[in-house]
Amino acid sequence: LLSANGDLGVTIFEEITTLAVKHRAINLGQGFPDTDGPKFFKDVAAQGISGDLNQYAPGAGILPLRRAIADHQKRFYGLDVNPENEVVVTTGATEAIAAAILAFIGTGDEVITFEPFYDSYGANIALAGGIHRTVALNAPDFQPDVNELRAAFNERTRMVVLNNPHNPTGSIFGEDVLAEIVSLAAKHDCIIVSDEVYEHLTFGVAHTPIATLPGAWERTLTISSAGKTFSFTGWKVGWATGPAHLVSAARTVKQFLSYSSGTAFQPAVAEALRSENTFFVEFANDLGKRSDVLAKGLEAAGMTVYRPQGTYFIVADVAPLGFDNALDLARRMPEAIGVAGIPLSVFCHAEGAERTRSLMRFAFCKRPELLTEAANRLSRLS
Ligand code: PMP
Ligand code: GLN
Repeated sequence: LLSANGDLGVTIFEEITTLAVKHRAINLGQGFPDTDGPKFFKDVAAQGISGDLNQYAPGAGILPLRRAIADHQKRFYGLDVNPENEVVVTTGATEAIAAAILAFIGTGDEVITFEPFYDSYGANIALAGGIHRTVALNAPDFQPDVNELRAAFNERTRMVVLNNPHNPTGSIFGEDVLAEIVSLAAKHDCIIVSDEVYEHLTFGVAHTPIATLPGAWERTLTISSAGKTFSFTGWKVGWATGPAHLVSAARTVKQFLSYSSGTAFQPAVAEALRSENTFFVEFANDLGKRSDVLAKGLEAAGMTVYRPQGTYFIVADVAPLGFDNALDLARRMPEAIGVAGIPLSVFCHAEGAERTRSLMRFAFCKRPELLTEAANRLSRLS
């Protein structure tokens, strides 16, 4: 079974985090915050455990959480989602992605993703026996070229997977790009899978779910997760929303991946989704400031920095420091200077890996003093 970078061995996140722990490095590699989400939500989860929420949840998720997910889609995006049959709760966005791809992709079906692509897309397409086509996102703005996008579709295309806001580049697709994706998906009768785990992590740019565009809802599964928005990546509560015919197929597959997801966390995530608007705004503002701190530090260290519009991540080019291979550098950095980052090439097929050879992704969902210290250490590279 071949994935993006050879076999389905150890993921890059596992590899680099292991090195970071071993060498006590500042881990700007794997995308997880170093500060937990609000204590109030932890208390709700703890009450579930000390109470009676310790046995299997319903396969689709507890109804109060499905209602909270539907209400959140209505409150922020004006989408009408039926909690009874248009929502499935999953074990993180990771399971929702797997369920969506395994539900609809069979041997020889083609799936389009944007490259660099989140690693699990490539792995799941391989597991499903599908053919993975990619459309490049290039610096500086990491938007797809519309002609390249059109050329990627053919009569075997069954699905297009987008990630908006985009990990690892931090870009947010323009509405013209989203409209083009919808129009091409309609023309080729494809399913759209939209991974929006960073929906609330945007810096001065509004997030538009592709499902809100005319003609999109009927063919779109939208995926999100509590991990990023509420800083509980370890809870692994995610979800998919969309029309009943797509959600029920993902739900059917989910039965055989996990059957159901962590019961005690579900009321806590329901509470979190009902947070005041200010919670979401303040979190994004705070993260935006951290992004600035790290961007300035990386610039001062001599890298070319592509400032993100959203997500946890900044992409920087290490070529100006005299390094042409970010993968080699990422494997050496934790020991050499006590900082970890993720090379972009691991999110790419061979050609894309060449194009992104000197690019490195750094996570800024960490305390500002750590970001400053990491940048100081990185300045020793030059
Ligand atoms: N999609 C993207 C783009 C991600 O960056 C991540 C990792 N945070 C996931 C999916 C997986 O999310 P989860 O941890 O909820 O499974
Ligand atoms: N989504 C996180 C990232 O991109 C990692 C999650 C994982 O380790 N699979 O860093």
